[in-house]
Amino acid sequence: MHANMIHTELAAAQLPEEMPDLDWITDPARIDRLSQDFAWFSPVLKRQLDGKRGDIAVRPRTEEEIRRVVASCARTGTPITVRGSGTGNYGQCTPLQGGLILDMSAYSAFCWARGAVGRAQAGIRLAQFDTQAQLAGYELRWMPSTFRSATLGGLFGGGFGGVGSINYGPVAAPGNVLGVRVMSVEPEPQITELRGPDAMQLHHTYGTNGIVLELEVALAPARPWMECIAVFGQFDDALEFANRFSRAPGMVKKEVCFLAAPIPEYMTALAEFLPTQCHAVLLVLAPESEAGMADMVKAHSGHISYRKTAEDIRASNRTLIEFTWNHTTLNALKIDKSLTYIQSSFTPSRNMEQVKALEKLLSGEVMMHLEFLRNKDGDFNCSGLQIVRYRSEERLNEIMAIYRQHGVHINNPHVYVVEDGKQHNLDPQVLEFKRRFDPLGLLNPGKLRVWEQLTK
Ligand SMILES: Cc1cc2nc3c(=O)[nH]c(=O)nc-3n(C[C@H](O)[C@H](O)[C@H](O)COP(=O)(O)OP(=O)(O)OC[C@H]3O[C@@H](n4cnc5c(N)ncnc54)[C@H](O)[C@@H]3O)c2cc1C
Repeated sequence: MHANMIHTELAAAQLPEEMPDLDWITDPARIDRLSQDFAWFSPVLKRQLDGKRGDIAVRPRTEEEIRRVVASCARTGTPITVRGSGTGNYGQCTPLQGGLILDMSAYSAFCWARGAVGRAQAGIRLAQFDTQAQLAGYELRWMPSTFRSATLGGLFGGGFGGVGSINYGPVAAPGNVLGVRVMSVEPEPQITELRGPDAMQLHHTYGTNGIVLELEVALAPARPWMECIAVFGQFDDALEFANRFSRAPGMVKKEVCFLAAPIPEYMTALAEFLPTQCHAVLLVLAPESEAGMADMVKAHSGHISYRKTAEDIRASNRTLIEFTWNHTTLNALKIDKSLTYIQSSFTPSRNMEQVKALEKLLSGEVMMHLEFLRNKDGDFNCSGLQIVRYRSEERLNEIMAIYRQHGVHINNPHVYVVEDGKQHNLDPQVLEFKRRFDPLGLLNPGKLRVWEQLTK
Protein backbone atom coordinates (compact mmCIF):
# COMPACT_ATOMS: atom_id res chain seq x y z
CA MET A 1 0.00 0.00 0.00
CA HIS A 2 1.16 3.53 -0.88
CA ALA A 3 2.49 5.57 2.11
CA ASN A 4 -0.08 8.32 1.42
CA MET A 5 -2.93 5.82 1.57
CA ILE A 6 -1.68 4.48 4.93
CA HIS A 7 -1.47 8.04 6.25
CA THR A 8 -5.03 8.75 5.02
CA GLU A 9 -6.41 5.56 6.55
CA LEU A 10 -4.79 6.31 9.92
CA ALA A 11 -5.91 9.94 9.96
CA ALA A 12 -9.47 8.87 9.05
CA ALA A 13 -9.50 6.25 11.82
CA GLN A 14 -8.63 8.91 14.40
CA LEU A 15 -11.51 11.25 13.49
CA PRO A 16 -14.13 9.59 15.79
CA GLU A 17 -11.72 9.77 18.76
CA GLU A 18 -11.35 13.51 18.20
CA MET A 19 -15.12 14.10 17.74
CA PRO A 20 -16.99 11.25 19.48
CA ASP A 21 -20.28 13.21 19.51
CA LEU A 22 -20.69 12.98 15.72
CA ASP A 23 -22.60 10.28 13.81
CA TRP A 24 -19.74 8.10 12.45
CA ILE A 25 -20.08 5.12 10.15
CA THR A 26 -17.26 2.61 10.46
CA ASP A 27 -18.98 -0.65 9.51
CA PRO A 28 -17.09 -1.85 6.38
CA ALA A 29 -20.24 -3.04 4.56
CA ARG A 30 -21.94 0.34 5.05
CA ILE A 31 -18.80 2.18 3.93
CA ASP A 32 -18.71 0.00 0.82
CA ARG A 33 -22.30 0.98 0.04
CA LEU A 34 -21.66 4.68 0.71
CA SER A 35 -18.64 4.54 -1.62
CA GLN A 36 -20.80 3.61 -4.60
CA ASP A 37 -23.37 5.19 -6.86
CA PHE A 38 -25.08 3.96 -10.02
CA ALA A 39 -21.87 3.83 -12.06
CA TRP A 40 -22.65 0.12 -12.52
CA PHE A 41 -24.91 1.16 -15.44
CA SER A 42 -21.57 1.33 -17.28
CA PRO A 43 -19.54 -1.87 -17.65
CA VAL A 44 -16.49 0.36 -18.18
CA LEU A 45 -16.89 2.34 -14.94
CA LYS A 46 -17.85 -0.79 -13.03
CA ARG A 47 -14.46 -2.27 -13.88
CA GLN A 48 -12.48 0.93 -13.35
CA LEU A 49 -14.03 1.78 -9.97
CA ASP A 50 -14.06 -1.72 -8.54
CA GLY A 51 -12.67 -1.72 -4.98
CA LYS A 52 -12.47 2.08 -4.66
CA ARG A 53 -13.80 3.08 -1.27
CA GLY A 54 -13.62 5.56 1.57
CA ASP A 55 -12.08 4.75 4.94
CA ILE A 56 -14.82 6.20 7.12
CA ALA A 57 -18.10 8.12 6.76
CA VAL A 58 -19.80 10.78 8.83
CA ARG A 59 -23.36 12.11 8.81
CA PRO A 60 -23.23 15.65 10.20
CA ARG A 61 -26.45 17.29 11.39
CA THR A 62 -25.37 20.93 11.67
CA GLU A 63 -23.12 23.41 9.92
CA GLU A 64 -20.93 23.43 13.03
CA GLU A 65 -20.45 19.63 12.82
CA ILE A 66 -19.50 19.94 9.14
CA ARG A 67 -17.05 22.71 10.01
CA ARG A 68 -15.32 20.68 12.73
CA VAL A 69 -14.90 17.61 10.51
CA VAL A 70 -13.67 19.65 7.56
CA ALA A 71 -11.19 21.59 9.71
CA SER A 72 -9.76 18.35 11.08
CA CYS A 73 -9.43 16.78 7.60
CA ALA A 74 -7.69 19.92 6.35
CA ARG A 75 -5.18 19.73 9.23
CA THR A 76 -4.35 16.07 8.57
CA GLY A 77 -4.60 16.12 4.76
CA THR A 78 -7.49 13.64 4.67
CA PRO A 79 -9.45 13.53 1.37
CA ILE A 80 -13.16 14.34 1.56
CA THR A 81 -15.77 13.02 -0.84
CA VAL A 82 -19.16 14.69 -0.45
CA ARG A 83 -22.20 12.47 -0.88
CA GLY A 84 -25.90 13.25 -1.26
CA SER A 85 -27.87 10.05 -1.87
CA GLY A 86 -25.41 8.38 -4.24
CA THR A 87 -27.74 8.21 -7.24
CA GLY A 88 -25.13 9.72 -9.57
CA ASN A 89 -24.21 7.71 -12.65
CA TYR A 90 -20.50 8.35 -13.08
CA GLY A 91 -18.88 7.26 -9.83
CA GLN A 92 -19.04 10.90 -8.76
CA CYS A 93 -19.21 10.08 -5.08
CA THR A 94 -16.81 7.13 -5.21
CA PRO A 95 -13.58 8.11 -3.41
CA LEU A 96 -10.56 7.29 -5.57
CA GLN A 97 -8.06 7.94 -2.79
CA GLY A 98 -9.88 6.79 0.35
CA GLY A 99 -10.46 9.22 3.20
CA LEU A 100 -13.73 10.58 4.54
CA ILE A 101 -17.19 10.30 3.00
CA LEU A 102 -19.14 13.39 4.03
CA ASP A 103 -22.73 12.14 3.92
CA MET A 104 -24.96 15.22 3.69
CA SER A 105 -28.27 13.37 4.05
CA ALA A 106 -28.90 14.53 7.64
CA TYR A 107 -28.21 18.16 6.79
CA SER A 108 -31.58 18.55 5.14
CA ALA A 109 -33.77 21.35 6.51
CA PHE A 110 -36.04 23.34 4.23
CA CYS A 111 -35.16 26.97 4.98
CA TRP A 112 -37.93 28.99 3.33
CA ALA A 113 -40.10 29.71 0.29
CA ARG A 114 -40.60 33.39 -0.53
CA GLY A 115 -42.66 34.03 -3.65
CA ALA A 116 -41.19 31.89 -6.41
CA VAL A 117 -37.87 31.30 -4.64
CA GLY A 118 -36.98 28.48 -2.27
CA ARG A 119 -33.94 27.74 -0.15
CA ALA A 120 -32.84 24.57 1.64
CA GLN A 121 -29.85 22.77 3.09
CA ALA A 122 -28.01 20.69 0.51
CA GLY A 123 -28.94 17.26 1.88
CA ILE A 124 -32.70 17.75 1.45
CA ARG A 125 -34.33 15.18 -0.79
CA LEU A 126 -35.91 16.72 -3.88
CA ALA A 127 -39.31 15.16 -3.11
CA GLN A 128 -39.24 16.75 0.32
CA PHE A 129 -38.23 20.12 -1.14
CA ASP A 130 -41.06 19.89 -3.68
CA THR A 131 -43.61 19.06 -0.98
CA GLN A 132 -42.53 22.13 1.00
CA ALA A 133 -42.64 24.37 -2.07
CA GLN A 134 -46.14 23.07 -2.93
CA LEU A 135 -47.39 24.35 0.42
CA ALA A 136 -46.54 27.83 -0.86
CA GLY A 137 -48.14 27.16 -4.29
CA TYR A 138 -44.88 26.41 -6.13
CA GLU A 139 -42.86 23.41 -7.29
CA LEU A 140 -39.32 22.56 -8.37
CA ARG A 141 -38.48 23.55 -11.94
CA TRP A 142 -36.80 20.20 -12.64
CA MET A 143 -37.24 16.77 -11.13
CA PRO A 144 -34.72 14.06 -11.96
CA SER A 145 -36.48 10.71 -12.09
CA THR A 146 -34.61 9.94 -8.84
CA PHE A 147 -36.52 12.74 -7.07
CA ARG A 148 -37.63 10.47 -4.20
CA SER A 149 -34.07 9.87 -2.97
CA ALA A 150 -31.74 12.34 -4.72
CA THR A 151 -30.68 15.47 -2.84
CA LEU A 152 -30.69 19.10 -3.95
CA GLY A 153 -26.91 19.31 -3.40
CA GLY A 154 -26.37 16.12 -5.42
CA LEU A 155 -28.48 17.37 -8.34
CA PHE A 156 -26.45 20.59 -8.36
CA GLY A 157 -23.09 18.84 -7.89
CA GLY A 158 -23.56 16.01 -10.36
CA GLY A 159 -26.90 16.19 -12.16
CA PHE A 160 -28.40 17.74 -15.25
CA GLY A 161 -32.13 18.41 -14.89
CA GLY A 162 -35.10 16.22 -15.68
CA VAL A 163 -38.88 16.45 -15.76
CA GLY A 164 -39.57 20.17 -16.17
CA SER A 165 -36.47 20.82 -18.30
CA ILE A 166 -38.84 21.09 -21.28
CA ASN A 167 -39.92 24.42 -19.78
CA TYR A 168 -36.92 25.65 -17.82
CA GLY A 169 -33.96 23.94 -19.49
CA PRO A 170 -31.27 22.20 -17.48
CA VAL A 171 -30.22 23.19 -13.96
CA ALA A 172 -27.36 25.06 -15.68
CA ALA A 173 -29.69 27.52 -17.50
CA PRO A 174 -29.15 31.01 -16.09
CA GLY A 175 -31.82 32.03 -13.60
CA ASN A 176 -32.56 28.55 -12.24
CA VAL A 177 -30.05 28.49 -9.38
CA LEU A 178 -29.89 31.84 -7.64
CA GLY A 179 -27.31 31.27 -4.92
CA VAL A 180 -25.27 28.78 -2.92
CA ARG A 181 -23.68 28.88 0.51
CA VAL A 182 -20.26 27.26 0.31
CA MET A 183 -17.73 26.01 2.86
CA SER A 184 -14.03 25.90 2.01
CA VAL A 185 -11.72 23.06 3.04
CA GLU A 186 -9.07 24.70 5.21
CA PRO A 187 -7.91 24.38 8.83
CA GLU A 188 -10.17 27.41 9.41
CA PRO A 189 -13.06 26.74 6.97
CA GLN A 190 -14.54 29.87 5.40
CA ILE A 191 -18.21 30.24 4.53
CA THR A 192 -19.24 32.31 1.50
CA GLU A 193 -22.51 33.08 -0.28
CA LEU A 194 -22.09 32.92 -4.07
CA ARG A 195 -24.76 34.40 -6.33
CA GLY A 196 -25.73 33.84 -9.97
CA PRO A 197 -22.89 32.92 -12.37
CA ASP A 198 -20.42 32.57 -9.47
CA ALA A 199 -22.65 29.94 -7.87
CA MET A 200 -22.71 28.04 -11.17
CA GLN A 201 -18.94 27.48 -11.04
CA LEU A 202 -19.72 24.70 -8.55
CA HIS A 203 -22.39 23.08 -10.74
CA HIS A 204 -21.59 19.61 -12.12
CA THR A 205 -18.07 19.65 -10.71
CA TYR A 206 -18.64 16.53 -8.58
CA GLY A 207 -17.98 18.25 -5.27
CA THR A 208 -14.38 19.07 -6.23
CA ASN A 209 -14.41 22.82 -5.70
CA GLY A 210 -16.35 23.52 -2.52
CA ILE A 211 -18.83 22.01 -0.09
CA VAL A 212 -22.31 23.31 -0.84
CA LEU A 213 -24.22 23.90 2.39
CA GLU A 214 -27.39 25.56 1.09
CA LEU A 215 -28.99 26.25 -2.27
CA GLU A 216 -31.46 28.91 -3.33
CA VAL A 217 -33.44 28.11 -6.47
CA ALA A 218 -36.16 29.71 -8.56
CA LEU A 219 -39.47 27.81 -8.50
CA ALA A 220 -42.32 27.22 -10.94
CA PRO A 221 -46.04 27.68 -10.18
CA ALA A 222 -47.48 24.37 -8.91
CA ARG A 223 -49.98 22.67 -11.23
CA PRO A 224 -52.21 19.59 -10.96
CA TRP A 225 -50.19 17.64 -13.56
CA MET A 226 -51.73 14.58 -15.17
CA GLU A 227 -49.92 11.68 -16.86
CA CYS A 228 -50.67 9.85 -20.11
CA ILE A 229 -49.08 7.32 -22.42
CA ALA A 230 -49.59 7.63 -26.17
CA VAL A 231 -48.74 4.57 -28.25
CA PHE A 232 -48.00 4.34 -31.98
CA GLY A 233 -47.42 1.61 -34.57
CA GLN A 234 -44.78 3.57 -36.49
CA PHE A 235 -41.49 5.05 -35.24
CA ASP A 236 -41.83 8.21 -37.37
CA ASP A 237 -45.40 8.90 -36.20
CA ALA A 238 -44.42 8.65 -32.53
CA LEU A 239 -41.34 10.80 -33.08
CA GLU A 240 -43.20 13.51 -35.03
CA PHE A 241 -45.91 13.61 -32.38
CA ALA A 242 -43.37 13.95 -29.54
CA ASN A 243 -41.60 16.75 -31.39
CA ARG A 244 -44.78 18.64 -32.33
CA PHE A 245 -46.35 18.32 -28.92
CA SER A 246 -43.13 19.49 -27.23
CA ARG A 247 -43.12 22.64 -29.33
CA ALA A 248 -46.88 23.35 -29.29
CA PRO A 249 -46.97 26.70 -27.50
CA GLY A 250 -50.60 26.49 -26.43
CA MET A 251 -50.19 23.15 -24.67
CA VAL A 252 -48.67 23.10 -21.21
CA LYS A 253 -46.45 20.15 -20.45
CA LYS A 254 -43.75 19.06 -18.04
CA GLU A 255 -42.40 15.90 -19.64
CA VAL A 256 -42.24 14.29 -23.09
CA CYS A 257 -40.31 11.00 -23.18
CA PHE A 258 -40.05 9.01 -26.41
CA LEU A 259 -39.37 5.26 -26.16
CA ALA A 260 -38.91 3.46 -29.46
CA ALA A 261 -39.70 -0.25 -29.79
CA PRO A 262 -38.58 -2.50 -28.23
CA ILE A 263 -37.87 -0.34 -25.12
CA PRO A 264 -41.52 -0.36 -23.92
CA GLU A 265 -41.21 -4.14 -23.53
CA TYR A 266 -38.71 -3.59 -20.70
CA MET A 267 -41.26 -1.49 -18.77
CA THR A 268 -42.95 -4.61 -17.42
CA ALA A 269 -44.85 -2.76 -14.67
CA LEU A 270 -46.71 -0.89 -17.45
CA ALA A 271 -47.11 -3.95 -19.72
CA GLU A 272 -50.92 -3.76 -19.90
CA PHE A 273 -50.69 -0.26 -21.40
CA LEU A 274 -47.93 -0.97 -23.91
CA PRO A 275 -48.95 -3.14 -26.88
CA THR A 276 -46.26 -5.45 -28.32
CA GLN A 277 -43.87 -3.67 -30.70
CA CYS A 278 -45.33 -0.23 -29.89
CA HIS A 279 -43.44 3.05 -29.81
CA ALA A 280 -44.53 4.97 -26.71
CA VAL A 281 -44.53 8.62 -25.62
CA LEU A 282 -44.80 9.19 -21.86
CA LEU A 283 -46.36 12.54 -21.02
CA VAL A 284 -46.81 14.79 -18.02
CA LEU A 285 -49.17 17.61 -18.96
CA ALA A 286 -51.68 20.17 -17.69
CA PRO A 287 -55.33 18.97 -17.70
CA GLU A 288 -56.44 21.85 -19.94
CA SER A 289 -54.05 20.58 -22.63
CA GLU A 290 -55.38 17.01 -22.63
CA ALA A 291 -57.96 17.47 -25.42
CA GLY A 292 -55.44 19.17 -27.74
CA MET A 293 -52.88 16.48 -27.00
CA ALA A 294 -55.41 13.71 -27.74
CA ASP A 295 -56.28 15.33 -31.11
CA MET A 296 -52.60 15.51 -31.97
CA VAL A 297 -52.05 11.84 -31.01
CA LYS A 298 -54.96 10.84 -33.30
CA ALA A 299 -53.58 12.92 -36.15
CA HIS A 300 -50.37 10.88 -35.86
CA SER A 301 -52.26 7.54 -35.93
CA GLY A 302 -51.70 6.84 -32.25
CA HIS A 303 -53.95 6.30 -29.26
CA ILE A 304 -53.89 6.98 -25.53
CA SER A 305 -53.45 3.80 -23.51
CA TYR A 306 -52.95 5.26 -20.03
CA ARG A 307 -54.42 8.29 -18.29
CA LYS A 308 -54.06 9.34 -14.66
CA THR A 309 -55.15 12.57 -13.02
CA ALA A 310 -53.16 14.35 -10.31
CA GLU A 311 -55.52 12.83 -7.71
CA ASP A 312 -54.94 9.28 -9.09
CA ILE A 313 -51.18 9.84 -8.92
CA ARG A 314 -51.31 11.14 -5.37
CA ALA A 315 -53.55 8.28 -4.21
CA SER A 316 -51.45 5.52 -5.82
CA ASN A 317 -48.06 7.19 -5.19
CA ARG A 318 -47.15 5.83 -8.61
CA THR A 319 -45.83 8.13 -11.31
CA LEU A 320 -44.70 7.74 -14.91
CA ILE A 321 -41.73 9.93 -14.00
CA GLU A 322 -40.08 6.77 -12.66
CA PHE A 323 -40.08 5.32 -16.19
CA THR A 324 -38.40 8.34 -17.80
CA TRP A 325 -34.85 9.74 -17.94
CA ASN A 326 -32.37 7.24 -16.53
CA HIS A 327 -35.16 5.25 -14.90
CA THR A 328 -35.83 3.93 -18.40
CA THR A 329 -32.28 2.52 -18.35
CA LEU A 330 -32.73 1.18 -14.82
CA ASN A 331 -35.99 -0.59 -15.75
CA ALA A 332 -34.35 -2.13 -18.83
CA LEU A 333 -31.31 -3.24 -16.81
CA LYS A 334 -33.59 -5.00 -14.33
CA ILE A 335 -34.72 -7.24 -17.22
CA ASP A 336 -31.43 -7.56 -19.11
CA LYS A 337 -28.16 -6.97 -17.24
CA SER A 338 -26.12 -7.00 -20.44
CA LEU A 339 -27.51 -3.63 -21.56
CA THR A 340 -25.87 -0.24 -21.12
CA TYR A 341 -26.52 3.27 -22.50
CA ILE A 342 -25.13 6.41 -24.10
CA GLN A 343 -26.04 10.07 -23.64
CA SER A 344 -26.39 12.34 -26.65
CA SER A 345 -27.48 15.83 -27.52
CA PHE A 346 -28.85 16.46 -31.02
CA THR A 347 -28.61 19.62 -33.12
CA PRO A 348 -31.79 21.67 -32.54
CA SER A 349 -32.19 22.65 -36.22
CA ARG A 350 -31.93 19.09 -37.57
CA ASN A 351 -32.57 16.79 -34.66
CA MET A 352 -35.42 14.82 -36.32
CA GLU A 353 -33.25 14.12 -39.38
CA GLN A 354 -30.35 12.96 -37.13
CA VAL A 355 -32.60 10.72 -35.01
CA LYS A 356 -34.12 9.04 -38.07
CA ALA A 357 -30.73 8.49 -39.75
CA LEU A 358 -29.21 6.94 -36.61
CA GLU A 359 -32.26 4.78 -35.98
CA LYS A 360 -31.97 3.44 -39.53
CA LEU A 361 -28.27 2.74 -39.10
CA LEU A 362 -28.19 1.21 -35.60
CA SER A 363 -31.66 -0.08 -34.71
CA GLY A 364 -31.48 -3.51 -33.14
CA GLU A 365 -28.25 -2.59 -31.37
CA VAL A 366 -29.06 0.94 -30.14
CA MET A 367 -32.61 1.53 -28.87
CA MET A 368 -33.84 5.10 -29.17
CA HIS A 369 -34.87 6.83 -25.93
CA LEU A 370 -35.27 10.60 -26.26
CA GLU A 371 -36.10 13.26 -23.71
CA PHE A 372 -37.55 16.46 -25.20
CA LEU A 373 -36.35 19.63 -23.54
CA ARG A 374 -35.14 23.17 -23.96
CA ASN A 375 -31.40 23.57 -23.90
CA LYS A 376 -29.42 26.11 -21.90
CA ASP A 377 -30.03 28.72 -24.64
CA GLY A 378 -33.78 28.06 -24.72
CA ASP A 379 -33.90 26.11 -28.03
CA PHE A 380 -36.24 23.13 -28.21
CA ASN A 381 -34.26 19.96 -28.65
CA CYS A 382 -34.11 16.33 -27.70
CA SER A 383 -31.46 14.53 -25.70
CA GLY A 384 -30.84 10.84 -26.09
CA LEU A 385 -30.38 8.27 -23.34
CA GLN A 386 -30.17 5.45 -25.87
CA ILE A 387 -30.04 1.90 -24.56
CA VAL A 388 -27.25 -0.16 -26.07
CA ARG A 389 -26.86 -3.91 -26.40
CA TYR A 390 -23.34 -4.05 -25.04
CA ARG A 391 -20.82 -6.11 -26.99
CA SER A 392 -17.45 -4.61 -26.05
CA GLU A 393 -15.87 -1.35 -24.96
CA GLU A 394 -14.47 -1.00 -28.46
CA ARG A 395 -17.90 -1.30 -30.07
CA LEU A 396 -19.38 1.13 -27.52
CA ASN A 397 -16.77 3.71 -28.54
CA GLU A 398 -17.51 2.99 -32.20
CA ILE A 399 -21.22 3.66 -31.64
CA MET A 400 -20.43 6.98 -29.95
CA ALA A 401 -18.09 7.83 -32.86
CA ILE A 402 -20.90 7.11 -35.36
CA TYR A 403 -23.16 9.49 -33.44
CA ARG A 404 -20.47 12.17 -33.53
CA GLN A 405 -20.01 11.66 -37.28
CA HIS A 406 -23.70 12.56 -37.64
CA GLY A 407 -23.06 15.85 -35.84
CA VAL A 408 -24.59 14.60 -32.57
CA HIS A 409 -22.87 15.59 -29.38
CA ILE A 410 -21.99 12.77 -26.97
CA ASN A 411 -21.89 13.31 -23.19
CA ASN A 412 -19.98 10.15 -22.46
CA PRO A 413 -21.44 8.40 -19.39
CA HIS A 414 -18.59 5.88 -19.22
CA VAL A 415 -16.01 8.26 -17.70
CA TYR A 416 -15.51 9.57 -14.16
CA VAL A 417 -13.39 12.68 -14.76
CA VAL A 418 -15.37 15.95 -14.79
CA GLU A 419 -13.89 17.19 -18.09
CA ASP A 420 -14.45 13.88 -19.94
CA GLY A 421 -18.23 14.02 -19.48
CA LYS A 422 -20.63 16.93 -19.93
CA GLN A 423 -18.01 19.53 -18.87
CA HIS A 424 -15.67 19.06 -21.83
CA ASN A 425 -15.43 22.87 -22.25
CA LEU A 426 -14.72 23.48 -18.60
CA ASP A 427 -14.88 27.16 -17.66
CA PRO A 428 -11.34 28.18 -16.53
CA GLN A 429 -13.02 29.87 -13.54
CA VAL A 430 -13.77 26.43 -12.09
CA LEU A 431 -10.06 26.18 -11.31
CA GLU A 432 -10.11 29.60 -9.64
CA PHE A 433 -12.93 28.40 -7.40
CA LYS A 434 -11.01 25.19 -6.70
CA ARG A 435 -8.04 27.26 -5.54
CA ARG A 436 -10.29 29.38 -3.39
CA PHE A 437 -12.43 26.71 -1.74
CA ASP A 438 -10.11 23.70 -1.81
CA PRO A 439 -6.54 25.03 -1.81
CA LEU A 440 -5.18 21.74 -0.43
CA GLY A 441 -6.83 19.64 -3.16
CA LEU A 442 -8.68 17.39 -0.71
CA LEU A 443 -12.13 17.39 -2.31
CA ASN A 444 -12.88 14.25 -4.37
CA PRO A 445 -9.26 13.96 -5.58
CA GLY A 446 -8.66 12.46 -9.02
CA LYS A 447 -11.88 13.78 -10.57
CA LEU A 448 -10.90 17.28 -11.82
CA ARG A 449 -8.20 16.89 -14.47
CA VAL A 450 -7.21 20.55 -14.67
CA TRP A 451 -6.26 20.45 -10.97
CA GLU A 452 -4.52 17.07 -11.17
CA GLN A 453 -2.35 18.31 -14.06
CA LEU A 454 -1.46 21.46 -12.19
CA THR A 455 -0.33 19.64 -9.07
CA LYS A 456 1.33 16.61 -10.69
C1 LIG B 1 -32.19 5.60 -12.21
C2 LIG B 1 -31.55 6.96 -12.30
C3 LIG B 1 -32.24 8.01 -12.89
C4 LIG B 1 -31.65 9.28 -12.99
N1 LIG B 1 -32.35 10.31 -13.57
C5 LIG B 1 -31.79 11.54 -13.64
C6 LIG B 1 -32.51 12.64 -14.20
O1 LIG B 1 -33.67 12.54 -14.57
N2 LIG B 1 -31.87 13.84 -14.28
C7 LIG B 1 -30.60 14.02 -13.77
O2 LIG B 1 -30.06 15.13 -13.83
N3 LIG B 1 -29.93 13.01 -13.22
C8 LIG B 1 -30.49 11.79 -13.12
N4 LIG B 1 -29.79 10.77 -12.54
C9 LIG B 1 -28.51 11.06 -11.87
C10 LIG B 1 -28.71 11.44 -10.38
O3 LIG B 1 -29.81 10.77 -9.83
C11 LIG B 1 -28.97 12.91 -10.17
O4 LIG B 1 -27.97 13.66 -10.70
C12 LIG B 1 -29.17 13.25 -8.69
O5 LIG B 1 -29.69 14.52 -8.59
C13 LIG B 1 -27.93 13.13 -7.84
O6 LIG B 1 -28.31 13.38 -6.49
P1 LIG B 1 -27.64 12.59 -5.29
O7 LIG B 1 -28.10 13.23 -4.02
O8 LIG B 1 -27.88 11.15 -5.40
O9 LIG B 1 -26.12 12.95 -5.55
P2 LIG B 1 -24.81 12.09 -5.34
O10 LIG B 1 -24.77 10.99 -6.34
O11 LIG B 1 -24.68 11.72 -3.91
O12 LIG B 1 -23.73 13.18 -5.70
C14 LIG B 1 -23.54 13.67 -6.99
C15 LIG B 1 -22.29 14.54 -7.03
O13 LIG B 1 -22.53 15.75 -6.34
C16 LIG B 1 -21.57 15.92 -5.29
N5 LIG B 1 -22.27 16.51 -4.14
C17 LIG B 1 -23.34 16.00 -3.49
N6 LIG B 1 -23.72 16.84 -2.51
C18 LIG B 1 -22.86 17.89 -2.54
C19 LIG B 1 -22.71 19.05 -1.75
N7 LIG B 1 -23.53 19.34 -0.74
N8 LIG B 1 -21.67 19.89 -2.04
C20 LIG B 1 -20.82 19.63 -3.06
N9 LIG B 1 -20.93 18.54 -3.84
C21 LIG B 1 -21.94 17.68 -3.58
C22 LIG B 1 -21.03 14.55 -4.99
O14 LIG B 1 -19.69 14.62 -4.51
C23 LIG B 1 -21.09 13.90 -6.35
O15 LIG B 1 -19.94 14.18 -7.08
C24 LIG B 1 -30.36 9.49 -12.47
C25 LIG B 1 -29.66 8.43 -11.88
C26 LIG B 1 -30.25 7.18 -11.79
C27 LIG B 1 -29.49 6.07 -11.13
